[in-house]
Amino acid sequence: MQSKLPNVGTTIFTVMSKLAAEVGALNLSQGFPSFAADPALIELVAQAMRDGHNQYAPMPGVASLREAIALKTNTLYGSHYHPDHEVTITSGATEALFAAITAVVQPGDEVLVFEPAYDSYVPAIELAGGHPIYVSLAPPDYGIDWDQVRLLVTPRTRLVVVNTPHNPTGRVWTGEDMHELAALAEAHNLLVVADEVYEHIRFDGRTHHSLASYPVLRERTFVIGSFGKTFHITGWKIGYCLAPPALTVEFRKVHQFLTFSVSTPMQHALATYLTQPDRYTTLPNFYQQKRDLFLSALAGSRFTFLPTEGTFFQNVSYAGLTDEPDHELAVRLTRDIGVASIPVSVFYQQRTDYHILRFCFAKDDTMLLEAGQRLNDWSLRV
Ligand code: GLN
Repeated sequence: MQSKLPNVGTTIFTVMSKLAAEVGALNLSQGFPSFAADPALIELVAQAMRDGHNQYAPMPGVASLREAIALKTNTLYGSHYHPDHEVTITSGATEALFAAITAVVQPGDEVLVFEPAYDSYVPAIELAGGHPIYVSLAPPDYGIDWDQVRLLVTPRTRLVVVNTPHNPTGRVWTGEDMHELAALAEAHNLLVVADEVYEHIRFDGRTHHSLASYPVLRERTFVIGSFGKTFHITGWKIGYCLAPPALTVEFRKVHQFLTFSVSTPMQHALATYLTQPDRYTTLPNFYQQKRDLFLSALAGSRFTFLPTEGTFFQNVSYAGLTDEPDHELAVRLTRDIGVASIPVSVFYQQRTDYHILRFCFAKDDTMLLEAGQRLNDWSLRV
């Protein structure tokens, strides 16, 4: 049989988490918290189940959750989305990304993708018959050369995929980036998919520029969020898509046959939980402390650190320590010192290797200190 995705294997997250479990390593590879969700949130789910919310949710999502998301978006980004016509609850951001891309990409369309890129965008583009066109960004700052981006736009360009705060680099798009994107999208009538799953995790006072807050972008963008990152519940797989009515109609055509609807008790619980904004406004502080703790544990090492403006990933360069390819070193460190990471080359189409490893610091403090110590010692030995 001819594969529709000949270049796709098992994701690096699955590979590294499996290896970490096999060898008993501290798993700083796949991005998920090692700590528990708020017991109050768990109790709300149990309550929703006891209240009998155990059958299919409405296809677009439970109304109270769509309303809570609309309110949050309006409060934070000054942009009103109608809960009935512009908000859809999805099985995590993964489903939302797939549904949005599938809904609008036609065979032969070109889609601009900034790389390093999260791994789920390109397979969705290719299954829809589209062609990813890569804008390659380089360390240490991964800044965007908008002149280069403009050169890549052709009459076939249909969509741009944006991710801010960015996995794996931790970069947060600036207001200037947003204006450049808005001008480009307007001039060439482009649609946008904005992956904003780390919207609440950014540091050093940085603002998250949601595409929802730019009118020119709002009218052509699928803004995608997820509760997994925000409430330490990556296993629940609940996310959402905000998009103007015409885009939402097309989005839901795909969504209703991908999953139809999303787990009901979780949606009721999240609707109630969202009524207290401090549950997400405190996240920058919480994660900034973890980032800084991990960095302090590595302060005496020979690694160099790339800036982390947002997300819960710290990128670490080992250039000068060894010439090993990053994927080999990631495996070796998992086996030899029991610390698992993600090699950043996997996020590049050509597997461009800048000798950088990504560490997830959504872990309890003891684990961060222990991992930091082991990495520190290793770097001084090589
Ligand atoms: N987003 C998570 C990460 O970057 C992984 C999610 C997954 O395993 N698909 O590590």
